[in-house]
Amino acid sequence: MGGFFGIEVVTPVQPYAARKRYLCPGCDGSIEVGEGHLVVTPEHEPDLRRHWHRGCWHLEQRRRHGR
Ligand SMILES: [Zn+2]
Repeated sequence: MGGFFGIEVVTPVQPYAARKRYLCPGCDGSIEVGEGHLVVTPEHEPDLRRHWHRGCWHLEQRRRHGR
């Protein structure tokens, strides 16, 4: 369906590749160094990429797509 949020590219970050601390937009919590997580990049706005906890991203998908 796509729609409102457009196409986003989801890239897993392995624990060894997580070298910085990030703020997850899903829970406003921090993603610590060495914690595996996801990078979500809007296809047409690569500057807006965000780092998400895996669980938070899955919850967000459910929120967006309902049910
Ligand atoms: Zn989170």
